Amino acid sequence: MRYLDAIAKTAASNPDRTAIVTTSGDTATYGWLWSASEALAAWIDASGVPEHEPVMVYGHKSPLHIACMHACLKSGHPYVPVDRFSVPKERAVSIAGQIGAPLVLATSEFPEELADAASTLLDTSRLTAIAEKGGASQPERWVSGEDLAYILFTSGSTGTPKGVQVTADCFDNFLGWAVTLGGIDKTGLTFLNQAPFSFDLSVYELAMALASDGTLFCLTKQVQDNMREEFKALAASGVGVWVSTPSFANMCLVDDSFTQELLPDLRLFLFCGETLANSTAAALLERFPQAKVVNSYGPTESTVAVAAVDVTPEMTAADEPLPVGIARPGTRLRVVDEQGAECPTGTYGEVIIEGDTVSAGYFKRMDLTEKSFGTALLDGKEVRTYRTGDEGALDEQGLLHYHGRLDMQVKFNGYRIELGDIEENIRKLPEVTDACVTPFERDGRIAYLVAHVVLGKAPAETGLKATVAFKKELAATLPHYMIPRKFVFHDRLPMTPNGKVDRKTLAKL
Ligand code: AMP
Repeated sequence: MRYLDAIAKTAASNPDRTAIVTTSGDTATYGWLWSASEALAAWIDASGVPEHEPVMVYGHKSPLHIACMHACLKSGHPYVPVDRFSVPKERAVSIAGQIGAPLVLATSEFPEELADAASTLLDTSRLTAIAEKGGASQPERWVSGEDLAYILFTSGSTGTPKGVQVTADCFDNFLGWAVTLGGIDKTGLTFLNQAPFSFDLSVYELAMALASDGTLFCLTKQVQDNMREEFKALAASGVGVWVSTPSFANMCLVDDSFTQELLPDLRLFLFCGETLANSTAAALLERFPQAKVVNSYGPTESTVAVAAVDVTPEMTAADEPLPVGIARPGTRLRVVDEQGAECPTGTYGEVIIEGDTVSAGYFKRMDLTEKSFGTALLDGKEVRTYRTGDEGALDEQGLLHYHGRLDMQVKFNGYRIELGDIEENIRKLPEVTDACVTPFERDGRIAYLVAHVVLGKAPAETGLKATVAFKKELAATLPHYMIPRKFVFHDRLPMTPNGKVDRKTLAKL
């Protein structure tokens, strides 16, 4: 399935059909999306941005934002989505620096520093004026095959985000499978968009909605911050396919009114990105008798998800965690031991993903790419492979069972975080000489992050005041979900016998 062809078809046959609705009150039709993105693509093409160079799309959920992402695809450039609420100023500027002074399409307010880091920055009024001109299709310049469709920057262990390069083929191959999930006909349905566009989970509903004549229903940050507003918006949404992290569904389940009555059209819950607890799935199946629950698994590096399973009430009642899925056609999952040898069925090891949705590695980071990516033969074709750093085991039916990470990456409220990323940014603070961040767990879930900090000299402020000051300083470089809730000050960090920071001891403090 070619994504842009599918949208073109609806834009031509049913231009007045609603493609996008946001909780800020914006709507857009397929006809508008198609012609606005065409006009913007023509502008990008004429602007002289070198072929295939990434273009940053900065802002938040709006029809213009989505049109800009599509304009990049249609002008042969990968888009780099940067959400203004999830990515703080310095991080956005650092991403612009890594790309190398890109063209920035800013669909909302933007920090001045971003304009300085861009070669050209188009603001909302210029983008709107260009979009209004409309334009005709030029499929010959669309991204295709091994061209990059988008680059998503994720937390990197050294304190600098790394850009995952997803090709047009990866995107289309993923989409062809995603639309089949849950076994329901998705044509014309409304798809919930919870995640910001800078997270790969959002690619699920974006791609499925617009390739299925559907409507993308975007929950904006403002509404997600207000539970009452959020439920009001959901009740009026007509959502048929729910895509979110399990954490978000858990938050909704706290409210007794979160039932099929609130969302009468809901037919499918689709989860990815973190552990789906048996109790969450059981509660959803009970409260939404007309909906299926699908658990899916995959990292950004292999395009959203590569395995999925329909969760049944029997599975949720079993005394073991839910499986995360069976590999999609075009993907092979392998589990290997430390020497790289295949693990027997039922034995835990590192999960390797091989197939036609494995991305083209990290943007301008050959070192990191070589460490985790390779090639293999699958059904006689050469495909890319990715070492996930996830621990898992395959059972006799080919179902993957997930058992956490082999490294310092954690998932907190659905967000992927390298603890090393936070530590590096804390160490950059002038008062700090060393730092270690540990997750604090409650009921098997991360409740918050704790920073263990060693200071060079006695701080001007101590205790709560110092914590508040550190949090404020970190907010310039780290997204809100990466800022530790608690700071514990140490004279020195405890060490293991082999001289490493004793994370286990710190985690118990
Ligand atoms: P991201 O790149 O943000 O999608 O994060 C990918 C990581 O999230 C994977 O490598 C896993 O560690 C974790 N993950 C993805 N899907 C699941 C799932 N269904 N259950 C548990 N963890 C998951």
